[in-house]
Amino acid sequence: MFEQVTETVRYAKAPTAIGVVTRGSDALLVDTGLDENLVRKVVNALANEGRTVRAIVNTHAHADHIGGNAFAVKRTGAKVVAPHYEHFFIERPDLEPWTLFGAAPPRALQGKFLQAQPSRVDHAVGGEGTQDVAGFQVRFHALPGHSVRQMGVEVDGVLFVGDAVLPPEVLSKYGLVFAVDPVAARASTERLLQLAPAHVVAYHGGLVSDLAGAVKANADAMREAEDALLARLRQGPAEDEELHAALMDRFPATARSLELHALNLATVRGYLAAMERAGRVEPFLEGPRLRWRAR
Ligand SMILES: [Zn+2]
Repeated sequence: MFEQVTETVRYAKAPTAIGVVTRGSDALLVDTGLDENLVRKVVNALANEGRTVRAIVNTHAHADHIGGNAFAVKRTGAKVVAPHYEHFFIERPDLEPWTLFGAAPPRALQGKFLQAQPSRVDHAVGGEGTQDVAGFQVRFHALPGHSVRQMGVEVDGVLFVGDAVLPPEVLSKYGLVFAVDPVAARASTERLLQLAPAHVVAYHGGLVSDLAGAVKANADAMREAEDALLARLRQGPAEDEELHAALMDRFPATARSLELHALNLATVRGYLAAMERAGRVEPFLEGPRLRWRAR
């Protein structure tokens, strides 16, 4: 069930690359999956090897990265370590649909894809650098933008980048790369080229064989979405929902759901706010309607 990267580092092959680092009888996990299903298999496989999970490090608080925390903590007593700020959302996962919706959310946004089981966070990581986590030397790299404070987690020469890079099949499935700040997300993705670790593991897709190509594909997708929004606004003012619809029309084959709508609309708003801060667009009221226009 694992793909081995180095002698001490491997990851669960599918559906998400839960990272596993071992040292003697101790193991550390990087992210835990959407629910208990995959992490249970990982914990059991490690137990069969005589190893116990001592710590879980989360790259960020999205439900598919933290959903297995509660099970793994209950089973193993592992300590949970996560980037500061993300840790609020891990301890209170209902914040995710609340912030996406901007108010008490409808049930449609409270499913497990957006709202994971909560888990305690024992240590919130405030900044970059190397920390001892249950005897493992873990180096943290700031990769914000996809979520507020996503961090890359580097152990034994392997950098787990969370969702800073998505594989081509995920890019084409969703059309838009989710980001709370798409401009920061693009900078974080491009930063991976400077970090240049020996191995990069993306949570969706696993080991990245061509980092430069993957970074370019992700950065291009984010840049194209921004350019398309600006091009649409140069034709005249529009509301965010109209802009979202225009953008998604470019990807007719992508998955559709109320949850994806909430994520994609938030991403569009993230682009608009970033362009507003850069002085390229501005919001205005037309009667009761909030519209955006190019400057
Ligand atoms: Zn994510």
